[in-house]
Amino acid sequence: MRPSVLVGVLAALCVLILQSAASAAPAPAGDLLLVPEKVWSGQGDIAQSGLVVLVHDGVIAAVGPEASLTVTAGTRRIALPGATLTPGLIDLHSHLFLHPYNEVVWNDQVLKEPQDYRTVLATNHARDTLLAGFTSLRDLGTEGAGYADVSVKRAIDEGLIPGPHLFVATRAIVASSSYGPGPKGFRPDLDLPQGAQPVTGVDEAVRAVREQASRGADWIKFYADYRVGPKGETMPTLSAAEMKAIVDAAHQLGRPVSAHAGSDAGVRMAVEAGVDTIEHGDAATEATMKMLKQHGAVYVPTLTAVAAIGEYFEQYRPGGEPTARMRESEHAFRTALKLGVTIANGSDVGVFKHGENWRELEWMVKLGMRPAQALHAATDGAAKVLRQQDRIGRIAVGMRADLAAFEGDPSATISALAKPVLVVKDGRVYRAPAEPR
Ligand SMILES: [Zn+2]
Repeated sequence: MRPSVLVGVLAALCVLILQSAASAAPAPAGDLLLVPEKVWSGQGDIAQSGLVVLVHDGVIAAVGPEASLTVTAGTRRIALPGATLTPGLIDLHSHLFLHPYNEVVWNDQVLKEPQDYRTVLATNHARDTLLAGFTSLRDLGTEGAGYADVSVKRAIDEGLIPGPHLFVATRAIVASSSYGPGPKGFRPDLDLPQGAQPVTGVDEAVRAVREQASRGADWIKFYADYRVGPKGETMPTLSAAEMKAIVDAAHQLGRPVSAHAGSDAGVRMAVEAGVDTIEHGDAATEATMKMLKQHGAVYVPTLTAVAAIGEYFEQYRPGGEPTARMRESEHAFRTALKLGVTIANGSDVGVFKHGENWRELEWMVKLGMRPAQALHAATDGAAKVLRQQDRIGRIAVGMRADLAAFEGDPSATISALAKPVLVVKDGRVYRAPAEPR
């Protein structure tokens, strides 16, 4: 390290220490009275006018016409004219430790960016996500940054840095020699850092689950398939026995399981193994989607990532001809929608810019969902996937005060989500319109 860099790092550390001393115990949140144009509560599809929301002690204390509520002196009143209040949004597939591949390709992020640097980036990404109105994230793997997600989650929970509630998967699990970086494409005598924890055999698979759970994984994620075919085709990687062992070990420890699966065979094997959510699912056929429904597995489409990769590497231009993979994932999405498979919002953000998580909801609407349906997939529906439906995902008395407001009405026009005007998490205000003077 060069001396000038060292001085800079020390100075940054001092600032960090001072800030943490100041904010290690988050200040208690004062009462809030939120007065929007409309409220979309997550119960039903229509946004209602004439309602206000009272927040006390980080919890929703009352919802009703303003005249009907008793508001104590000192309550902060926030007027939100022209805006719709919604539950804080949830993205079920993020990577806080990645940034867009058109900035730095994935291999180089994993190989060349030190974990410390990636953790600093992740804190910025967490802040950007929260300010966009996303108050909860399921972060599906640090992609080579070890267990750093557990520390970012802790720093958020302790009030050191702003960010959404995190549900983390830590390292994620892959079959040996099937993920990356390499070994394909690199000289064989290199020992490369890995984007996830490689396992071979049931014993190693179970050991990885136990290690990750003990180090703080809320979810276990594995890769059912990857581009391992002779021509780089996506094919199953882990065996059926390995997948089953992962799911059983995780469930025994109270951790739900998410599977990355793009091929039809990979999706089938993961569903048969008993996973809780399927990520991507691009090539899943109608028969396989029916199987998902029968097993009660939830489908997380990640449409935005497919389009972003199309833009970076396959000459896709927004509004132009979709790429082959975009067409494939569109077909899977429309099939799932038609069959009534439970679809939850997950974007794979990190592949594209953090804070633009709303783009996934826009895609879901573009490909056939009603705006309210997409909102449910990112609120009460996503909360169910997280087993948090009694705490988040709806605006109702007793629920945690995780709230967002957007200019216009996203339940009528989904693109309104691009314009957040208010963000509240646990009753604390992170974004609000400028107060009138
Ligand atoms: Zn992902």
